[in-house]
Order: sequence, then C-alpha cells, then structure tokens
Amino acid sequence: MDSIDERRRDEEYRRRRRERIRKRKQREVRRRRITLVLTTIIIILFVILIVKIVSACRADKIVSTTEKTANTVQSTEMPTLANPIKFTESQLQLNVGNVHKPFIMDSNRTELTEFSLKSENEEIVRVNENNELIATGEGDVTVICTVADGRQAECQVHVSPMSSTGIRKDLDINKPMVALTFDDGPNGGNTTSILETLNKYNGKATFFMAGYKIEEYPDIVRQVFEQGHEVANHSRDHLYANDLTVEQQKEQMESVNQQVKAIIGQEPTLFRCPGGIEGEYYTSSKMPLISWSIDTLDWKTKNSHSTYERITSVFEKGYNLDGDIVLMHDLQDSTPNAVQRICAYLNEKGYQMVTVSELAYYRGVQMEGGEIYRYFYKDNPSHNDEQDFDTNDSNENTDNSSDDNTEETVTA
Ligand SMILES: [Zn+2]
Repeated sequence: MDSIDERRRDEEYRRRRRERIRKRKQREVRRRRITLVLTTIIIILFVILIVKIVSACRADKIVSTTEKTANTVQSTEMPTLANPIKFTESQLQLNVGNVHKPFIMDSNRTELTEFSLKSENEEIVRVNENNELIATGEGDVTVICTVADGRQAECQVHVSPMSSTGIRKDLDINKPMVALTFDDGPNGGNTTSILETLNKYNGKATFFMAGYKIEEYPDIVRQVFEQGHEVANHSRDHLYANDLTVEQQKEQMESVNQQVKAIIGQEPTLFRCPGGIEGEYYTSSKMPLISWSIDTLDWKTKNSHSTYERITSVFEKGYNLDGDIVLMHDLQDSTPNAVQRICAYLNEKGYQMVTVSELAYYRGVQMEGGEIYRYFYKDNPSHNDEQDFDTNDSNENTDNSSDDNTEETVTA
C-alpha cells in the first residue's frame, strides 16, 4: 500500500515538475517573443528615425543649394551687394570748360575699363566718346556709371563758373607765348585740320566764329571748345559796324553769344569786330574787343608759303612774337598747311601757343568790356609799333579787304 502511495506521490511530483518545466518553457517562449517583437519595433523605429534624419539632411542640402542658387541669382540682379563699384572721387569739383577722365574701381580696388557714363543733365556735364566728362555749364549734376553686369555707381559733380575760361595753369611764364587766332569759321575740314596740328604741339588757339558758320558746323564749335581752345565771337553775319545801327550791332553780337551758349554751355567772352571796324555798341559792350598785331595776309595771298613767311620774316627782321596776336582765317583753304609749318617753327623756337585769354592772364591783364586789345607784351608794350610792318591802321585796312574778300567767298 505504502509503495503504491509512494509511487503515486512520486508520479504526482514528476507530473508537477513537468508541468512547471512546461510552464517555464512557455514563459520563456513568450518572453522571447516579446523581446523579439520589442526589438523589431525598436529596429523599425530606429530605421524610421535614420530615414527621417537622412531625408532631413538631404532636404537641408537641397534648401542650401537652392538658397545658393537664389543668392547667385540675387547677385546677378543686385551685384552691388557682392562687389560694388565706385568712382575714385564720389564728389567732383570742375570748372566750366574742364575735361575730366573719371576712374572706376570695384571693391578689390581693381580699376574697371569697360563702363558707360551717363550725365543726368547734359547742360551741366556732357560725356564724350572717350568717356570723359566735359563741364559745359554751372550747377550740380549726378553722373552714373554702369558696367555690363548692371552694377552702378554715382558721382556728384559740381561745376563752377569758368572765371578764367579754361586757362591752363601749367604754362611756363618764362617762355615766350603767342596767340594764334582764326577768323570767319568754323569751316569744316580746315578747322579740324588746324585743330589736329595745334594738338600735336599742345598748342591752343582762339577761334573768332561767325554766327552763320556756327549754324553750319555746331559740332566743330563743340570740338574746338572740348579740345581746350577758345571759342570767341565774330558777329552773326560778318557785317561791318559802319553799316549797322547800334541796335543791329547788339543783335549781331548777342545772337552769337546765345548761339555758342546753346552748343557749349557758356557764352564767349571775347569779340572781334568784322573788318576790325569798331562800332558804337561794340565799344560800349561787356566784351573786350580783340584786334591783332600780326596779319599773316592769308586771306590775300591764299598761299601757304606766304602765310608761313609772314611769321618767319618777323624773326628774320630781328623781332619776336612774344605777346603777339596773330591773325589767320580757317575760312582759307591754304591756311591749314601754313599752320602746320608755323606751329612746327614756333614750337622749335620754344613758343607756347596760347589762347588770347591765356595770354592776357599770363601778362596780368584783366580785360575790360569795350576795350581794344592788339597784343599783350611782357616788358615793352609799344615794341610792336617799332616793327616795320602791319601797323594797326594797315591791319584794319587789310582786314577790311579780308572781309570784303571773305564776303565775296561766302556769297559766291
Ligand atoms: Zn573776319
């Protein structure tokens, strides 16, 4: 009996044990499953996270690339932010008649060569074909520089009155000076040829222009002025004062002043009476009257060599031309060739070819309206009278002939 009970107990024990082992295994299996599921979930979450991070990074990159592209586009549209350009002088002081070459640089201080300039008021400052600023009238004006990619810079320009009409300040007061003057033009190729010669020798001259010729060649008037020569008044129709009333003389003088102002932005300051005949209005006007001390007689001889010899003969006779005012005519076709030889000759003799205003300035003469000036000698104001040719009277007579001759040429 005991043994049966014992066996039962034993079986019961084994059964329970098996049961415990089975349950333990079941729990183990469940635990593993849970672990597996959790691990899987964690891995999935982790993968999702990684994917999200990666995609976020990619998006960032795209955004930054887009931004860069946008910036590039922006820098094309608004390049001033990236590499602004500027004038070396953002403010400029000029006098009427001055020519100024502006320099443009970028933020690296590199000088730019390709740019265009625009003046907001061409009556004050004009831009010529060489990108130079020409001060043509008094006042303030903004000049804008633009480069090919659209960058811009501004320069404020203040233009003061001419006061000393484009007088060069670098002339040598100790060297001889002569004022070559050209009447009755401007006259197309003759005038431009004379300008070329003068430029070659750094010479400046005074051009006494007639209104009806100015009307024909306004561009040459501008050219004469822009190249630093003096544009002066020789009346509108080149009529002699003794044939005109006071009112007509006024009209003859004033109309040319206005005509010239419309072209170069300033009125001439000097007047030469047609035929050298001083009318009542002219002698009481605000303009100094410029005569001459040497008449080359180019109008009469119409011969280059003779014109040239009128200059060389002065020296051959032991005189000089320091302070003289020389009369020539750009209306004459023979004159440009003579000017080539005359300029070469005077240059070799050390002469500075100057405008009448420059000559007066350097000889300390403040010219006055209605006064007649024939020369500006340094030491001996009367020395011209000692010369045995072209006294003032004969000059006037010859100029009358000149003007008769001119009238014939013009009306023919
Ligand atoms: Zn004349």
